[in-house]
Amino acid sequence: MNAKVWLVGAGPGDPELLTLKAVKALSQADVVMIDDLVNPAVLEHCPGARIVSVGKRGGCRSTPQAFIHRLMLRYARQGKCVVRLKGGDPCIFGRGSEEADWLGAHGIEVEMVNGITAGLAGATNCGIPLTLRGVARGVTLVTAHTQDDSTLNWQALAQSGTTLVIYMGVAKLADIQAGLLAGGMAPDMPVAMIESASLPEQREFRSSLLRMQADAVAFALKSPAILVIGAVAATGLQADLPLSRQA
Ligand code: SAH
Repeated sequence: MNAKVWLVGAGPGDPELLTLKAVKALSQADVVMIDDLVNPAVLEHCPGARIVSVGKRGGCRSTPQAFIHRLMLRYARQGKCVVRLKGGDPCIFGRGSEEADWLGAHGIEVEMVNGITAGLAGATNCGIPLTLRGVARGVTLVTAHTQDDSTLNWQALAQSGTTLVIYMGVAKLADIQAGLLAGGMAPDMPVAMIESASLPEQREFRSSLLRMQADAVAFALKSPAILVIGAVAATGLQADLPLSRQA
């Protein structure tokens, strides 16, 4: 039997946002290797599988990537059906392609299964359309966290005319705010901060580019959270609520 690893997106948290294909892969799995951001509730689809946690959150004790690679390879070479389960989509800030390339180079067949990425789910759950005719002609997914501490081209982002969806931004709010303001974005540009999107504990907070850092402190915004920055971030609010509100 050919060794095979499924690289599967578990979606943003709500177990009902899992794809049918992800459920099928899970139901066939002998081993499931999961990240921290995966909601353990999805494991109901693989009751017989061995579950291996290989989470790695920024700043916390983490499983080295090389170890994860070797473990996937070992299980696959034992002929086991391996599911590598990642939060959201495997290839949106998820290192899915790195893992696929590495496994491929070692002769292992890989099948990738999309998941709903947190930015999409968070915006939808807050009633925010990421694109909107006449308002936002596109959407840019950005991470504020870089491995080499290089800076983003904030000016290009500020002037792109697209909705910005920022991942891993909670610890970088000051840089994001300063970069976009210096890049020419309007201080009153609407911002939505969405924490634990799609989970029962989801919280959202509406702010503006100028106030977002102070508002995030007042709101005690914590990871995992995404930021939606752009004119569309003012939509989805009930008319009788002030711009800033706690869900
Ligand atoms: N592959 C994942 C992203 C992993 S990077 C995806 O497609 O969603 C981790 C970042 O994703 C977090 O720092 C946060 O910015 C975002 N994130 C993941 N799950 C989230 C959730 N339920 N709510 C809000 N943000 C989330």
